[in-house]
Amino acid sequence: MDTVKVNNRLFEKYISAEEIDDIVKSMAMEIANEMGEDEVPVFVGVMNGAFMFAADFIRHYPYPCEISFVKMSSYDGAESIGKVQELIGLSDDLKDRTVVILEDIIDTGNTLQKIYDIFESKNNKELRIATLLFKIDVYTKELPIDYIGKVIEDKFVLGYGLDYDELGRNYPNIYQLKGKIMNNIVLFGPPGAGKGTQADVIKEKYGLVHISTGDVFRYNIKNETELGILAKSYMDDGNLVPDDVTISMLKKEVEKNSDANGFIFDGFPRTTSQAEALDIFLSEKGQSINAMVSLEVAEDILEKRLLERGAVSGRADDQDVEKIRNRFNEYNTKTSILKEYYQGKDKYYGIDGVGTINDISGKIIDVIDKL
Ligand code: AMP
Repeated sequence: MDTVKVNNRLFEKYISAEEIDDIVKSMAMEIANEMGEDEVPVFVGVMNGAFMFAADFIRHYPYPCEISFVKMSSYDGAESIGKVQELIGLSDDLKDRTVVILEDIIDTGNTLQKIYDIFESKNNKELRIATLLFKIDVYTKELPIDYIGKVIEDKFVLGYGLDYDELGRNYPNIYQLKGKIMNNIVLFGPPGAGKGTQADVIKEKYGLVHISTGDVFRYNIKNETELGILAKSYMDDGNLVPDDVTISMLKKEVEKNSDANGFIFDGFPRTTSQAEALDIFLSEKGQSINAMVSLEVAEDILEKRLLERGAVSGRADDQDVEKIRNRFNEYNTKTSILKEYYQGKDKYYGIDGVGTINDISGKIIDVIDKL
């Protein structure tokens, strides 16, 4: 297989099973030559990623050796400490032994450093590090890496034990992400919830492209384009513009920004058909929606906000209570069900949309940072 699709992202073949085998074999021989026949080292594979590498490595190791496995595991500590990390599986007595840590991949080196510090306190005779893959450009630590299988560029890889959200470990080849990992966020909520205001903050922080379908329609109306003339009749009354028109416009906006790090979709999708069309469209590009962040605000507050905005902006659909209520009605009957659509995919994050702009941005950033 030259390409694989995992969690809706496309990966292309990067290191073949044959090349991996050659690399592992030559690492085993290099280490064996240094150790000699009389030294019996303990190889310690770091789970889960290194399980295939460790298994193949000792198969190629010609002299007596032992194998053991450890795993970094995090659990919730008291609130003040947050996540606590501990090393599990380290039961053998490693005092006065030669230990070689076997890693599948080293990037920043943060986890490796923690593991190394724990091992170092065990009074080993010697402690060395061997890694199959090494992302040299992102490595931030001083620890010397004694044995390196292959230096790779900073791109996301999976296969041969390496995973993407736990999937892909079983491939015999190693694959590399096609393109880059994008963050695609749907900013959701009723009219007046503050989506545009928050989108401005979030797009700066994450370098995302903000697409507001309402803004694109208004731009077209101002410039009296064919699309603008068509959309105006719906918008002025607070009705939704038909799906086919909106979907094709949205696709064009995405295509215009093909080198984006990701998108904030504001005001789109507003119907189930739009949400389905967006999923299909993104998946054809090997992308997906990462989260729907919804700003939750009560209608009486929204009505007040919209009337205030209308007095300043002159937006026709913000000035008339009847039109505003029709927009709420469109939202409640056609759009709000999308909460369930994204909840069903475990991608829905509701946020209280009442508070200062900063407070609300902070809550959205908390959600995105954990994605
Ligand atoms: P907004 O600026 O997001 O409040 O949108 C203003 C108006 O543009 C809406 O009331 C609709 O008439 C139209 N519109 C914006 N986005 C969409 C969409 N995704 N689907 C249909 N109509 C939309």
